Amino acid sequence: MCANPIEQFGSNVFNEAVMKERLPKNVFKALKKTINEGLPLEETVADVVANAMKDWAVEKGATHYTHWFQPMTGITAEKHDSFLSPKADGTAIVEFSGKELIKGEPDASSFPSGGLRATFEARGYTAWDCTSPAFLKEDTAGVTLCIPTAFVSYTGEALDKKTPLLRSMEAINKQALRVLKTFGSSASKVITTVGPEQEYFLVDRNLFKQRKDLVLTGRTLFGAMPAKGQELEDHYFGTIKERIAGFMKELDKELWKLGVTAKTKHNEVAPAQHELAPIFGTTNVATDHNQLVMEMLQKIANRHGLTCLLHEKPFAGVNGSGKHNNWSLSTDEGQNLLEPGTNPHENIQFLVFLCAVIKAVDEYQDLMRVSASNAGNDHRLGANEAPPAIISIFLGDQLTDILEQLKNGGLKSSKQGGQLLAGVSSLPALPKDNTDRNRTSPFAFTGNKFEFRMVASSLSIAGPNVVLNTITAEILSQIADELEKATDFNAKVEEILRGIVNKHERIIFNGNGYSDEWVVEAEKRGLSNIRSNVEAVPALITEKAIEVFEKHKVLSKVELESRYEILLEQYIKQINIEALTMIEMASRQIVPSVINFTTSLANSINAIKSTGVNADLSAQEDLLVVVSSLLATMNKSIATLQAAVAKAADMHGDTYNQALAYKDEVFAAMNALRAVADEVETKVDATLWPFPTYSELLFNV
Ligand code: ADP
Ligand code: MG
Repeated sequence: MCANPIEQFGSNVFNEAVMKERLPKNVFKALKKTINEGLPLEETVADVVANAMKDWAVEKGATHYTHWFQPMTGITAEKHDSFLSPKADGTAIVEFSGKELIKGEPDASSFPSGGLRATFEARGYTAWDCTSPAFLKEDTAGVTLCIPTAFVSYTGEALDKKTPLLRSMEAINKQALRVLKTFGSSASKVITTVGPEQEYFLVDRNLFKQRKDLVLTGRTLFGAMPAKGQELEDHYFGTIKERIAGFMKELDKELWKLGVTAKTKHNEVAPAQHELAPIFGTTNVATDHNQLVMEMLQKIANRHGLTCLLHEKPFAGVNGSGKHNNWSLSTDEGQNLLEPGTNPHENIQFLVFLCAVIKAVDEYQDLMRVSASNAGNDHRLGANEAPPAIISIFLGDQLTDILEQLKNGGLKSSKQGGQLLAGVSSLPALPKDNTDRNRTSPFAFTGNKFEFRMVASSLSIAGPNVVLNTITAEILSQIADELEKATDFNAKVEEILRGIVNKHERIIFNGNGYSDEWVVEAEKRGLSNIRSNVEAVPALITEKAIEVFEKHKVLSKVELESRYEILLEQYIKQINIEALTMIEMASRQIVPSVINFTTSLANSINAIKSTGVNADLSAQEDLLVVVSSLLATMNKSIATLQAAVAKAADMHGDTYNQALAYKDEVFAAMNALRAVADEVETKVDATLWPFPTYSELLFNV
């Protein structure tokens, strides 16, 4: 009998309970100290931990171990080594040393480094992040012990997404503690917590395989809208279909084994779109878990004859996917620093942390923007479905009112939500939330956390959290500087808060972020409106950005410059692949099919004429004229796109200008080609269309 899957929670994780059971007391204590206080791990301790970890893994069937890391590709990487160690007599023993646990040395030359590591200097090191537990991955290839690691170059530069994330957690810990001390808090550690909601699409795997665009780029590059889209709004929270439910059940089971707290699952707005949300946790573990979620979504989908699309905009015309990064700060004593309590106007410590975030987001809008961006998200941000490209904060009535009171010279009261009455006496009276929700805000306060709703669905959440942690750390450090030397603490706090509200209230917007009026209003307020991924990237290398990241030892100038290069290169490569895929599909699939169609039309006209019957052939003839003319336009559009790609690909030297050319010329030419191809699709015999259409893809599972 299979145990209830929920009882298998964490069974593939070398978690604290397992460590406690398997490690000698003193070793367990030393390791806990390392984890909690960020101290270096001694090799003797590491040896014992490694051995216990290996025994545990081998008992569970593991033959290999891997240092699991997150290079700047945004996905995870692993290199498997077996536990076998040969002996001189031809036999072998199973072995795993502390050294092997702590440090790995994968050849780093094939990972993007943005010029950080010349190819002749290929050395890269992986270092165990003991604050994120090791786990077992099971698949048909066997069982592998995965050790979460950071990935750095020979000279110590971060080559990955985890290293700066860990550094940013240290930075915010330090600065938040300074502020808390001034309030007399006894907390000794502050962590940031994250719960990322992940949206995704599921399509039938056989249909997926018939579309080169989905296979090569993760999104459809062609496709006319079906008769039915999402207008009936019948998919959101709708009953989950059996095939999908089967997939979700297995997904939950596998994620639970990995210790991922998959909690809610539901259908999303678009047909074939779904969402998974875990219970929040420490940021670096939540980040590792989100990488595992994305990996497992794809793996388990395959087992059910499905393919999971993590792209931000797999289908034009229906909603795309995002990732909502719910973020807060918490002390080691379990206090959520963004919890307002029932009377926030009396909770000055909360108001300090709230205002710190407000100021941070206003001051560093451009860093927030770039941290959520990628090529795919350009299809969402600023379009009428996702948060606008303008960064603003939704606070809701109650807190906005309190900030208003602060500005006007004194905190007096907190508006309360009261009771929600459904008008049916048998239903319980529900306590009403103090604020309604706002689904159009890119950064919304949702009760006791902020929800960064702009993040791209396929993106690692490391980047957005590095930015959130670092910019908040900076403002907290400014506040701590003032509070530490204040003689009249209360007066100083009020002065600081009032100063922040006066200067930064422009970032607060509780209205409809999708409206055109907001764009105009935001411009009046002086908020930045960065319209594309390419234009967002330079935010990483402004003087202001370099200063804040260097001050808090999160990223050096060189590391920032490398990220700037990598992001632009990724954009260029992705658009280049999309353009070439379009050219191939158009030239080798769509054009020949349309020619077949026009030929059969012409044949039909000729055949009817040859009968000598005096039939009205205007329908066939008109169609032939229209389709032939579209075909001619399409042919020209292919040539234009080809020329644009050739020109952009040939630009050397300045990566930024090359990326701009891809955005302004190649991407524009892609849209023109798509428009005409989609129109042709609506005119051509469906049985002749060379690949599955939108209605087949969206309504077939
Ligand atoms: P929704 O936005 O869909 O209504 P929920 O309120 O259920 O979402 O929560 C969304 C996510 O926010 C969940 O993953 C949840 O664990 C996470 N979350 C809740 N509290 C916190 C917190 N203090 N810090 C970080 N994430 C949190
Ligand atoms: Mg949400």
